[in-house]
Amino acid sequence: RELPSDPRTDIISREVLHACYSKVSPSAEVENPQLVVWSESVADILDLDSKEFERPDFPFLFSGASSLKGGLSYAQCYGGHQFGMWAGQLGDGRAITLGELLNSKSQRWELQLKGAGKTPYSRFADGLAVLRSSIREFLCSEAMHSLGIPTSRALSLVTTGKFVSRDMFYDGNPKDEPGAIVCRVAPSFLRFGSFQIHALRGKEDLGIVRTLADYTIKHHFPRIENMSKSDGLSFSTGEGNNAVVDLTSNKYAAWLVEVAERTASLIARWQGVGFTHGVLNTDNMSILGLTIDYGPFGFLDAFDPSFTPNTTDIPGRRYCFANQPDIGSWNIGQFASALSTAQLINKEEFNYAMERYGTKLMDDYQAIMTKKVGLLKYNKELIGELLNNMAVDKVDYTNFFRLLSNIRTDSNVPDEELLVPLKAALLDIGRERREAWTSWVKRYRAESAIDMAEQGDFREVRRLLKVMERPYDEQPGMERYARLPPAWAYRPGDFFFS
Ligand code: AMP
Ligand code: MG
Ligand code: MG
Repeated sequence: RELPSDPRTDIISREVLHACYSKVSPSAEVENPQLVVWSESVADILDLDSKEFERPDFPFLFSGASSLKGGLSYAQCYGGHQFGMWAGQLGDGRAITLGELLNSKSQRWELQLKGAGKTPYSRFADGLAVLRSSIREFLCSEAMHSLGIPTSRALSLVTTGKFVSRDMFYDGNPKDEPGAIVCRVAPSFLRFGSFQIHALRGKEDLGIVRTLADYTIKHHFPRIENMSKSDGLSFSTGEGNNAVVDLTSNKYAAWLVEVAERTASLIARWQGVGFTHGVLNTDNMSILGLTIDYGPFGFLDAFDPSFTPNTTDIPGRRYCFANQPDIGSWNIGQFASALSTAQLINKEEFNYAMERYGTKLMDDYQAIMTKKVGLLKYNKELIGELLNNMAVDKVDYTNFFRLLSNIRTDSNVPDEELLVPLKAALLDIGRERREAWTSWVKRYRAESAIDMAEQGDFREVRRLLKVMERPYDEQPGMERYARLPPAWAYRPGDFFFS
């Protein structure tokens, strides 16, 4: 269905009804396209030999100027909630899937060009991408993968040789920038919005939600597909607060729970490394729990819970760093509503999935933060106070933790030297803040010394034995054991209760 054309550009866009995708071919113009960079590890998962990248036609194939043999290119139809409001049909406005590749391990990989020209979903935009944002997407998705965070991957980055006009700093002065195309790769680019669009278009399309859910489970959630085939014998039974939910009886509920848990686990990892997505609309939420659609994303430098890399989000800060866990929950709620509208799940199943999201997020977040500070057990007070101190003093969220691993737990370093290993991260703190940090490091050290012993690290015990074997000798280098006891040693009670 044609929509009124946009008066500014005269571009006609369409509502694509009763369909999950539209066949479309790449159409970006190229002029001497060049391969800028490619990822060896992505080539590996696609069984592509490195020689393929030297082919003179590679930049033509991966800018879409020449078509791939056997490919069936299309753009997906999806909708989404943008900044909390239902925005209707969005769809792949500048991404075109070239096809799916089944590798030698029978893994399915979808290859998608971003910036290869207009699609029926381009609305009033040009379907193109610039080099600047393409480099960001290429490098960040590969970096996230190496950090162990689920993400879409990037195979190649090609410049088109053409220029694209963008208002780079929103100052009303459009600037011509080099055009570029990333080939991104994932098992699937299906989003929450791929399901929402059909649920929200009215009764007529509810069947499509079920068909697409069946397709997704069959191809991308084999565990759930197989369990539902075998009468759900090995399904677990979820116990919610209010009701016992039997996930064996409904594969859609089991699937929803898995999507909720994958999303929770993903966002917990983002919080661990300080990644802030910037545009967590439901159309940018992967059904597989991957990081997708790298736009204005950013990593925290100085720890600031209200950090947002998205300049259009600054007034509300809906998508700021600290909100991501709640936004994930809100988005899962919208996805679950779509399944509910299509009568695939009931109210108890809906509530149970929401609860699982919250539990999984907390469990994973606590485990990640515990590892990040190098402790064995989660300590809410210690980590809470650390983050608070970091926010007050705007401490670097990455470098601080690297330096923290230099803190020695094996000796009685005098108070005034305790912060020395952290100096590079705590440069700007005032004298009055040193006390807060010293007190935190002392408690951190006490906690990690106990952890070390519990882990079987008894070096300190053996060192002490050596010192005590010669109690009347001067022992150079061991003076610290002859000092007055530290304040915490006066704590009463330990002796009697240990
Ligand atoms: P995003 O906020 O980047 O996830 O994009 C939201 C919607 O706008 C999606 O449907 C995109 O495909 C579309 N879109 C973004 N940039 C462009 C562009 N340059 N040309 C056409 N569509 C675009
Ligand atoms: Mg998007
Ligand atoms: Mg985008």
